[in-house]
Amino acid sequence: MEEKLLIIGWDGAPSKLIKTFVDRGGLPNLEEIIRNGYFGPLETVPYVMSSCAWSTMVTGKNAGKHGVFDFYSNKFEDNSYFRKPINANAREEIELWNILSEHGVRIGIVNVPFTYPAVKVNGFMVAGMLSPSIDDRNFVYPNDLLNDYEEAKNYIIDLEGGKDTPKDQFIENINAMLEARTNLILYLLEKNKDLDVLFAVFTAPDRVSHYFWHFCDKTHPYRKNESEEDLQKYEDTILKIYEKLDEKLGDIIKKFEHEISKDFSIVVVSDHGISSLKKILHLNKYLEKKGHLKFKQKEEWKEFQKNVLNKKVSYIFGKVDWSKTKAYAIGKRGAIYINLRGREPKGIVNEGEYENLIEKLKKDLKGIKDSETSEVIVEKVRSRDELFFGRNIQKAPDMLIFLKNGYFPFGYAFELDKPNWISVNDRVDLPFVTGIESGDGILCVKGKNIKTDVTSENSRIRDFTPTLLYLLGLPIPRDMDGRVVKEIFRESYLQENPVIYEPSREQPRGRKQEFSKGNMRKIKERLEKLGYF
Ligand SMILES: [Zn+2]
Repeated sequence: MEEKLLIIGWDGAPSKLIKTFVDRGGLPNLEEIIRNGYFGPLETVPYVMSSCAWSTMVTGKNAGKHGVFDFYSNKFEDNSYFRKPINANAREEIELWNILSEHGVRIGIVNVPFTYPAVKVNGFMVAGMLSPSIDDRNFVYPNDLLNDYEEAKNYIIDLEGGKDTPKDQFIENINAMLEARTNLILYLLEKNKDLDVLFAVFTAPDRVSHYFWHFCDKTHPYRKNESEEDLQKYEDTILKIYEKLDEKLGDIIKKFEHEISKDFSIVVVSDHGISSLKKILHLNKYLEKKGHLKFKQKEEWKEFQKNVLNKKVSYIFGKVDWSKTKAYAIGKRGAIYINLRGREPKGIVNEGEYENLIEKLKKDLKGIKDSETSEVIVEKVRSRDELFFGRNIQKAPDMLIFLKNGYFPFGYAFELDKPNWISVNDRVDLPFVTGIESGDGILCVKGKNIKTDVTSENSRIRDFTPTLLYLLGLPIPRDMDGRVVKEIFRESYLQENPVIYEPSREQPRGRKQEFSKGNMRKIKERLEKLGYF
């Protein structure tokens, strides 16, 4: 293949923050790409989970088609309301790397989130977050990829720990992970000189932002738990991680130039931004207030012991009276489910009541106020068919609620004895992070066919794959929802290369979507530690 391409992902890099850091001169390598190429925000998915966002990015399709909304499936475990964790086989649409492989492009994939188990590609794949371990036989493709790599034992798939890890230790762990990731990428470039495309992702920005966001947001309520000394000491922690990432970006660019080609395009991309989690809306408490949900009396609570690893998390599973509950919220993204008969383990809502209930919920939820300030905190409430389309739409939550800046809706059972449905995120005993996935990511592109003086406010995460296919001179499968972001290409390239479409391509089906029993506990533990409980 004539066209060579280097794609670097920074999970959770927000466009505004990156712009600020670049303007301050802190990220010279990224700045060079931006100055000689394109930089703009990349609109994320409505259900902002890394699994959903990256799946949309690498398929060019909305989640109603690829079917990955969360790290969990829509199947229930042992008749409880706890959903089973899923792996990347749950993605039911063909990914960028399979398309490129079918075209004979040599591609290397490293640590793209939600790629375990690694699949056969025309090149290599190192799976990303939620891979059970480095020794797992499905961690890499081909099997012997890392056999001669002496530093393999030092490789870190993802971070362990979070809020409870001492800060300096956490920073040290992030740096070690970043270092190990870069070393592996450099090694793989050296060993695969015939590569056409490398796609490698760093998760460090997402992880550091979750736990250190309050240090860079001077209005964050959680700051009251930190000493003056710490507030100063960690003020630039996030920036420093980005500086390190930028330095590594420079190293990878140099290596790519040296091993692969002098002439190549570069893409730096992120799946979503991050924003301050200042106040928490306890959605289930609000649903109870409106008569849609019933919590049991405290004496009747059955703790959900079997599945709870993080004792700080208060799940609803054993606390809800399902026989009197029509709607409930789960997780940390404002997902609301109808307790539907025949679908939910103890469903009571009939199919015929569904639409009316959705409308009633919309009305009831639209007016939620901050119980302290009396301000309406809801931006919008949407049913799933207003947000997604495709044959897998039934895997989506029935509704999503979107709140104003600073507020986030959570689906747990915290502080049921208190009348308030809002908590300020200023307490160490709550398991919540201080920065949370929200808003635009980034798209930076530099190459001989890319304009240097253009901004676009209209690129979306689903445009990533069609745009890259076009950049590589390949046709776009007709069933992609995204578009080619044409405005970033030079006129001459656009004229000589009309966008060509081709019939849809099928993803191999029938793969096992659940983790093996042995890995299940490990994966749940990691999900909880990452805050995806
Ligand atoms: Zn992410």
